Amino acid sequence: MRNWNGWGDDALHMDVPPPAAALLKKRIGKGTRTRGGASLQQLLARIPSSRLGDHSLVNQAPFERLSHAHGQSMPDWIGLRWGTLNRFPDGVAYPTSGDELQEVLEFARNGRAMIIPYGGGTSVVGHLSVPDTDQPVLSLSLERLNRLVHLDAYSRLATLEAGVTGPDLEAQLRAHGMTLGHYPQSFQYSTLGGWVATRSSGQQSSHYGRIEELFAGGEIHTPRGVWVCPPFPASAAGPDLRHLILGSEGRLGIVHRAVVRVSLLPERDEVYGMFFPSWRNAVRAVRAVAGAGIPYAMVRLSNTEETLTQLLLAGKEKAIHMLERYLRLRKIEIPPGVMGLMGFIGSRAQVRTARREALSMFRRYQGVSVGRPMGAAWQKNRFKAPYLRNTLWNLGYAVDTVETAVPWARVTRTMTAVEAAVRNSLRPFNEKVHVFSHLSHVYATGSSVYTTFLFRLGEGPQETLARWEAIKTAASRAIVQAGGTISHQHGVGTDHRDYLSAEKGRVGMDLLRQVITHMDPEVRLNPGKLIGGEGEP
Ligand SMILES: Cc1cc2nc3c(=O)[nH]c(=O)nc-3n(C[C@H](O)[C@H](O)[C@H](O)COP(=O)(O)OP(=O)(O)OC[C@H]3O[C@@H](n4cnc5c(N)ncnc54)[C@H](O)[C@@H]3O)c2cc1C
Repeated sequence: MRNWNGWGDDALHMDVPPPAAALLKKRIGKGTRTRGGASLQQLLARIPSSRLGDHSLVNQAPFERLSHAHGQSMPDWIGLRWGTLNRFPDGVAYPTSGDELQEVLEFARNGRAMIIPYGGGTSVVGHLSVPDTDQPVLSLSLERLNRLVHLDAYSRLATLEAGVTGPDLEAQLRAHGMTLGHYPQSFQYSTLGGWVATRSSGQQSSHYGRIEELFAGGEIHTPRGVWVCPPFPASAAGPDLRHLILGSEGRLGIVHRAVVRVSLLPERDEVYGMFFPSWRNAVRAVRAVAGAGIPYAMVRLSNTEETLTQLLLAGKEKAIHMLERYLRLRKIEIPPGVMGLMGFIGSRAQVRTARREALSMFRRYQGVSVGRPMGAAWQKNRFKAPYLRNTLWNLGYAVDTVETAVPWARVTRTMTAVEAAVRNSLRPFNEKVHVFSHLSHVYATGSSVYTTFLFRLGEGPQETLARWEAIKTAASRAIVQAGGTISHQHGVGTDHRDYLSAEKGRVGMDLLRQVITHMDPEVRLNPGKLIGGEGEP
């Protein structure tokens, strides 16, 4: 069963091995023993009566309303764990067809209700928080719109309903020998519609493409009517309007169906481990590989602090000891050495050639390949890491991430600036932050920079929220100052809203506002997310 106040399935647990716990204690101190965790019953008892009328497609049961009142952002976690969450949708609608979707929109309109489209509820930036408003709020769950509607295998186009989750989508395509290949770390629960609405990026997007490359078109239900984007292979007929839906965060309409570009299941999908003597060498190596057009499927390059932390979290002390001895023979010491992963997808011959070319490039920067076992372990466990969030919270620590993308000339500078801002941000609280970063999406012109931070929980919700806000603000300002985008993959929601104008500019923000106002003149669709329009909560 899905965890009601944390990440994932209740049945799955990830341990923090003692050496990793010791590192954390050394870096930031012993975890805080908090008091006052809320039970499910206590939270359910807080839910006020619904302001919506009855409708056969709308469920007003308290548990439904609670489970659709949040995503996975830090404020969401704090509200759930301490029971301070205080805004809930008045009901959850579950349409099963386009007609029912239309019926629900009509019901919301007649009841003057705001609508929050809900995919898998995995947003980490406040996309799903319920506004403080006198109007009723309806959560529109896409959960029952989860079918493969049509597969044009000849053209490699699949039409799917937008509420389909990652595993369900892949299972339906794999039955026909096809794959979408979109694997965000939230794959287990996130949905096709959510990926489109947040401009998501999968772990192997260097091969399959980000969602904006995979989303070929679709059908969107808007307050102005049904908007159909045909799936042309390419088009020069004016601006590409698909890009208005991509990243629209539920503000322009509900993605009912999406046409996606699918691939044949690959013969090989392999990930290899590698180490470099320094961060500088490693960055130069992956930049060179990306610039040379070598067809890799993924690159993940951890900095020294992340390398140390990940090796301790892996928990296999003996194997890691042997690995360190081997690396020492190859003149790599950790620290300052760094760890990387590189993946290849394709036929056996394609993978062999690409890997050989990448390796020869890495050798120029003293890179050492440690073969497949490390990559295979990553492939096996790649959706499990978020479960550590539950364990760490129970040990008294909160963990969150910030991410950006910048051109190569600013990658290391940006990472260093963001980490410094995060590290110093809790000085007024007399607290420390454990912070580390990796590059996870590497392009010819630059890279994403993904920074993880851990801090001790406060004694209560206000103190914990204040610590998180201090870190998040410092990191976001550092990103803007470094000229990075405020999000490479998580989107804007409420948490990044104030930083959006720094990259869109006044003209861009006016345009965005006009589009939203045109599509949703009554301000009913997910108000307050992406931009804060006039009169919006
Ligand atoms: C542990 C973890 C790991 C993550 N890893 C990644 C990652 O690797 N890459 C990445 O890109 N993101 C990642 N994320 C962020 C998140 O999973 C993505 O933003 C994802 O795309 C959200 O999809 P969802 O279905 O859960 O949408 P939700 O969280 O339910 O909604 C997100 C937004 O999309 C809107 N929306 C949802 N469905 C529709 C629809 N059908 N029509 C219109 N609007 C809609 C909602 O209104 C909301 O504004 C991660 C999150 C977590 C918790």
